[in-house]
This record gives sequence, C-alpha cells and structure tokens, in this order.
Amino acid sequence: MVQRFQQYIDGAFEDGSTSFDSVDPATGEVWASMPAASAADIDRAVQAAHRALFDPAWANLTASQRGKLLYKLAELVAEHAPKLAQLETQDTGKIIRETRSQIGYVAEYYRYYAGVADKIQGAWLPVDKPDMEVTLRREPVGVVAAVVPWNSQLFLSAVKLGPALAAGCTVVLKASEDGPAPLLEFARLVHEAGFPAGVVNIVTGFGQDCGRTLTSHPLVSKIAFTGGPETARHVVRNSAENLAATSLELGGKSPVLVFDDADLDSTANAVVAGIFAATGQSCVAGSRLVVQRGIHAALLERLVAKAATIRIGNPQNVDTEMGPLATKRQLEHIQRVLQASVEAGGKVVTGGRVPQAGSREGVPAGGFFFEPTIVDCPHAQVPSVVEELFGPVLSVVTFDTEADAIRLANDTRYGLASGVFTRSLTRAHRVTRALRAGIVWVNTYRAVSPIVPFGGYGLSGLGREGGLDAVLDYTRTKSVWIRTSDEPIADPFVMR
Ligand code: NAD
Repeated sequence: MVQRFQQYIDGAFEDGSTSFDSVDPATGEVWASMPAASAADIDRAVQAAHRALFDPAWANLTASQRGKLLYKLAELVAEHAPKLAQLETQDTGKIIRETRSQIGYVAEYYRYYAGVADKIQGAWLPVDKPDMEVTLRREPVGVVAAVVPWNSQLFLSAVKLGPALAAGCTVVLKASEDGPAPLLEFARLVHEAGFPAGVVNIVTGFGQDCGRTLTSHPLVSKIAFTGGPETARHVVRNSAENLAATSLELGGKSPVLVFDDADLDSTANAVVAGIFAATGQSCVAGSRLVVQRGIHAALLERLVAKAATIRIGNPQNVDTEMGPLATKRQLEHIQRVLQASVEAGGKVVTGGRVPQAGSREGVPAGGFFFEPTIVDCPHAQVPSVVEELFGPVLSVVTFDTEADAIRLANDTRYGLASGVFTRSLTRAHRVTRALRAGIVWVNTYRAVSPIVPFGGYGLSGLGREGGLDAVLDYTRTKSVWIRTSDEPIADPFVMR
C-alpha cells in the first residue's frame, strides 16, 4: 500500500499540483506518494505567510503567548516522536535507534525557543541629544523561507522554526524532495498546536521549481538554508531577487585529530560514532582521521575491528547499527569517489563494497547499503580526503608533529566541525585555538545542544543556528525617536 502525504498551506492540508514517488532506501521500493509544490503553490504559501505576519491573530499575540504555542508544539513533538521516527526511518533509511533519540531531543529545541520568546528585548539608547528619547524595538524580520536537506529534517527545521516563531516571524518550510515524510507529518502537529493559519506552511518539491521560487520570492525577508555548497550558490543568486538576509549551513570535511597520548579505546569509539553514525550522512561526520604516526597502526587495528562488527541491516530493527544510504544517487557518488581515491593511492583497509543480501546478517536485498569503509591515504590530495562523500567512509592521513596536524586539519575549504583527542590540557588549548572550524570537540564528538551555536567557516556556511543569539537573526531593529521638549519646533527658514 503506497501512503499518500499532503502539503500544508494557509492552515489547510492539500494535495500538490503534481506528486512524486518516495523510495524506501532499505528496499529500493516505492512506499509513498509525495505532493510536489509548484511555483504557484509556493506563491500561495508565501502570500499566506505574508498575510499571517500582519494578521492580529498572530501579530497581536504577546511574546509569552507565542512561547506557549511553541511549548505546546514541543510537547506534541515529544508525544509523537515514535511515529515521526518511524517515518523518518522509512523515508531516509536512518536507523530507528538514531531517529528515536534525535527526534525526542528535537522537542528540547522547541522548548528552548519557547522560553526565549519573551526574552527578546529592545533597548534604550543614551542618545547625545537632551530633548530626545530613543528606543530600539526588535521586530520580526518577516516571512522566512526555510529550506532543509534530507538528513535529519526535523532537527534541521527546529533550529529554524524555533527562533523564527519565537521572534514572531512566519515561515514557509520546504522539506527536501528526498525523505519529506516526517516533516509533512510534523505539519499535523503544528496544526494541532494551534498556530494561526499561514504562520507555518510546510511543502516539499524540487529545487528548480519549488526551492528557487521560494528563495527568490519578493515577499521573503530571510532565507535559512541547510544543504550542500553548490545548492547554496544557487540560493545566494536567488536572493539577489529579494535581497533577503541569508544564513547557510553547508557541508563539511571535518578532521578528527588523534595525538599519541590519547586514550585509544575511548578514541576509537568516538571515531567510529563520528563517521559511521547516520551511515556517515551527517554534516558534522568526522570523515578525516588525522592520526599521529606512532599510534597509526594501533588505532587502525581497533577501528577496523569495530567496523567489521557493525550490524548493517533493516533500519527499522532496533538492533541495527548502520542502515542504507538515503538514495541511489548518494551510493553511486560514494562508489565513484572511492574508486578515484584508490587510483590516487588510497588503500581500502576495510569495507569498500556494497554488502550482498545475506552476506552480513540481516542485509535486505535491493537497498542502498554500503559497508563501513576505511581508506588509508598516502597524502591529503586523495579525493576522499578532499571531497565530502556524505557516506560511511573514513579517510586516514598521518602526521608527525602538532604543527603538521594543524596544517592537515585546516587544509580544506570547509570548516564545520573538528575533534581533538589528547590527554594534554595545554595541547588541547593550543590546537582548539588553531583549528579553523565552527565547532571543536575535545575528547568527545558529535555533542549538540539547543543552547550552543552551530555553524561553520568557509564553504561550511554563513551564520550560526542554535543558542540565544540565533533568535536575533530573525529580528530587525527599529529606532524610535521621541522628542521630549514641549517647546514648538522653530521655523527652519527663519534666520536667528
Ligand atoms: P542539497 O543542497 O542538494 O539540497 C538541500 C535543499 O535545497 C533541498 O530541499 C533541495 O530541494 C533544495 N534546493 C535544491 N536546489 C535549489 C535551488 N536552486 N534553490 C533553492 N533550493 C534548492 O543537499 P542534500 O544533498 O539534500 O543534503 C546534503 C548536504 O547538506 C551535504 O552537503 C550536507 O553536509 C549538508 N548539510 C549541512 C548541515 C549543516 O547544518 N551544516 C546539516 C545537514 C546537511
């Protein structure tokens, strides 16, 4: 039975102008039909969001009332997390263990921004004119176009919707054309929470029609985009039409530096989690292992042993440790880059193949599976060291000195996350200072929190999501000048 999903525009659920099939990545079979928003659908959604922005039903709510709505949404997300997790697993292949725990935590993001709503404050300015009172109001920036990729869509939209709604904006959220089911289902929770019609609109569709129309729409004031750098370039060009403020959360090629004084067993667990969780389809995946020569063999031995025991299989099974890639396109990309990496001298020390059904216990036929793979690289120009694969492939490069390690780690156009494993406190301080990345984890990897900003340097993006300051990106200031003198204003054309 193919399930049918609907889009959510102006408070109503409706079919799209056309529809497209969604494929279950674990089996390669069509399981759902998704509404494809046309340019006309997007225009209606943006018009609805623009109307809602000024409608007293939303515009006249107090900040605390907006916070209460967000809090209600957080509770609904927590309550419906199992269903949302099951849908995300079905539509993207991300394992159920990960989707359950991640979506449970998504509720915390809405709770956090629920609390932020009535803490957005303006200011009184000590202006240099005695007869003037100047205050600074913080107002919602306007209609927000939120665009997310297919991995972790609920999480990536929470860091946009949470601050946008706390600030009083209205939103058109575009789910990715790959795996949109959980976000389309989430629209039902937005509706149930009681947001007025048009405040949140949720659609899906393809980049060229739907994404381009949304990000270039004249009524959009802010674009919050997450995706790859190539798409981001299109989005920036689209924003030339509306001059919307733009934040970009893009890809990564994050280095994990391991020094010879690190605790090897603990480090091996963190490295494995850093690259093989979410089948490597994570923007912060620790995909470059930068390891000191003296421990290269010992660490690799541990990593290879762990990779070999990872249970690949049906992502809905709670025992599964690694699921399929989300799309066939993704699988083919990984195979292509891996082949080029081997030709450039990379040595595949484990994995590197599509597991045959039944070769590892529980691998179903027809899915987009790939083995956890480690490539030992003779130098940092091997393609898998340079390019974001967005898959379960760890590339290893070796260093001798701390300076070499920093040079290798920073030898990338990306700069999203990084990890440092060492027992030396002084070295940890030196290295965290030297790394060009928006996040540095020391003796840990992948920790996130609504309270902590998230974002990158270079090709990894522009702006930060999460944390208190993110909400300010959804506001703009209005300077209000009030003359306090009762004296009449002098005629400007009478000379004194
Ligand atoms: P993508 O860039 O192909 O697509 C992202 C979104 O952009 C999709 O919704 C897509 O439909 C839309 N889009 C495509 N063309 C568009 C256009 N011309 N105008 C407007 N929108 C358009 O990304 P993907 O392949 O779905 O996801 C993988 C990428 O996302 C990776 O590079 C990954 O690192 C990155 N990512 C970054 C973060 C982060 O927070 N930094 C988080 C997750 C994923």
